[in-house]
Amino acid sequence: ASSPDTDTICRFFFADMDEGSRRQLNLDTALRRALERNEFILHYQPQLDLSTGRIIGAEALLRWQSRDYGLVSPLNFIPLLEENGMINTIGEWVLQEACRLNRKWQDEGLPPLRMAVNLSARQFHGGDIPNIVKRTLEKTGLEPQWLELELTESIVLMDADKVIRTMHEISAEGIGFALDDFGTGYSSLSYLQRLPVARIKIDKSFVANLTSNPSDAAIVRAVVGMAHSLGLKVIAEGVETEGQLGFLRGINCEEIQGYLFSRPLPADDFTLLLREGRSIPPKQIEKPERVL
Ligand code: C2E
Ligand code: MG
Ligand code: MG
Ligand code: MG
Repeated sequence: ASSPDTDTICRFFFADMDEGSRRQLNLDTALRRALERNEFILHYQPQLDLSTGRIIGAEALLRWQSRDYGLVSPLNFIPLLEENGMINTIGEWVLQEACRLNRKWQDEGLPPLRMAVNLSARQFHGGDIPNIVKRTLEKTGLEPQWLELELTESIVLMDADKVIRTMHEISAEGIGFALDDFGTGYSSLSYLQRLPVARIKIDKSFVANLTSNPSDAAIVRAVVGMAHSLGLKVIAEGVETEGQLGFLRGINCEEIQGYLFSRPLPADDFTLLLREGRSIPPKQIEKPERVL
């Protein structure tokens, strides 16, 4: 049996609580209590380099291990944390915990990985994110090149000038950015060159129908081509089948993340995966055609 994760999490447990402000109040209280009880945890999902077949990174994904509700998906509570401002406190904890673990892996002599951490809009606008990130690296002793911040297009577009300035400030410290859920937002390509992003993450909704829907295949192919011509790398999220993997290899997508290789895992399980050195077959080097 695989570890419990988003599929087995009760995604809709808030559905029957639709009682306006009373509901809001209850959830706020439950979330504050969750924080006090240390019920927020991180799972980590491997990111694989297709040229070597090896794990090259991890994405930290927040979960609420609730005494009352079980393992709760972030889709259920992140919007609430954003609304009530708790995302700033919890986001800071996420950063610190993810950096701490990544440093610990390095200290144990495991091959160094990039740790990806998601940031939400409010974290970016509210607090002093450049300083928070900088302090976290100092505190945990993680070097900046091993941290990557994931940001959605919509965050950038919300307040482009301010966000871009802040991104450059963070990037100057040597920390990389990936553009998450790419293709789901406004997707104007012109602003991409203004952003200090190293990587585009193709949204899993396009990956899902890659082998059955020609227009999704065309979109993914175009995004990869465009990214490459702008000097950006591409990671595809939500890769679940060999067919999707084969397609992505064929168009020279650099990296993948998805259930095909692994679901998001608790820290200890991820550590075992790293120790085992599990991988997928590396890119086939094409044999030169024989001339007859
Ligand atoms: P995301 O950043 O786009 O993360 C990828 C989501 O895709 C994760 O959902 C992951 O579990 C899921 N996923 C990965 N591989 C597959 C696959 O092969 N098939 C399918 N169907 N799904 C796959 P998750 O963990 O439920 O997170 C949902 C969203 O919540 C994230 O989307 C991110 O936007 C947000 N989130 C999670 N953790 C944090 C956090 O610490 N801070 C912030 N601000 N947002 C977070
Ligand atoms: Mg992400
Ligand atoms: Mg994503
Ligand atoms: Mg997504």
